[in-house]
Amino acid sequence: MARPGGKNIQAKLVLLGDMGAGKTSLVLRFVKGQFHEYQESTIGAAFFTQVLSLNEATVKFDIWDTAGQERYHSLAPMYYRGAAAAVVVYDITSMDSFQKAKKWIHELQRQGNPKLIMFLVANKADLGQKRAVDNEVGEQYANENGLSFMETSAKTAQNVNELFYEIAKRVAKSS
Ligand code: GDP
Ligand code: MG
Repeated sequence: MARPGGKNIQAKLVLLGDMGAGKTSLVLRFVKGQFHEYQESTIGAAFFTQVLSLNEATVKFDIWDTAGQERYHSLAPMYYRGAAAAVVVYDITSMDSFQKAKKWIHELQRQGNPKLIMFLVANKADLGQKRAVDNEVGEQYANENGLSFMETSAKTAQNVNELFYEIAKRVAKSS
């Protein structure tokens, strides 16, 4: 619970990005502290909740983990509409997944919601030896488009809690 006088905030958070980028793995690492080498693909979307307590507020995330395949694309607006935060994920070993991430960012920007908190997340940082997208390329793209950038690994847990805490802080600040 938040400290007396602290705010209780409920925030919708959506994860978008190519299939296989690691969206479900990031959520499972955050919510359950688990990682599966053979994570099953998400069908449609999956829903999770998690509460984060900050000094100034308690943030309850309603997390929509989307599927990423083209055939589910028309459903995406249902998940990002009304969201406080969007996390666009790519896999650092796949240039294609980075291109897909850019498409998602354009789509979000077309919604014209200046309050939407957006993060570009470069996942699978543990696979540096197979890297196809330089860190600087992702970071620069995020900077130019007004997103925050973070490199994560759902496998090693690198920056995963940090990512969600950062989002929670930003949500708390803006509400
Ligand atoms: P999604 O389709 O975006 O939800 O991706 P998944 O979470 O299903 O992950 C796709 C595959 O990548 C699975 O085999 C995961 O085990 C693997 N994976 C996800 N995150 C990482 C990571 O940070 N490092 C490594 N090495 N593999 C990962
Ligand atoms: Mg998934």
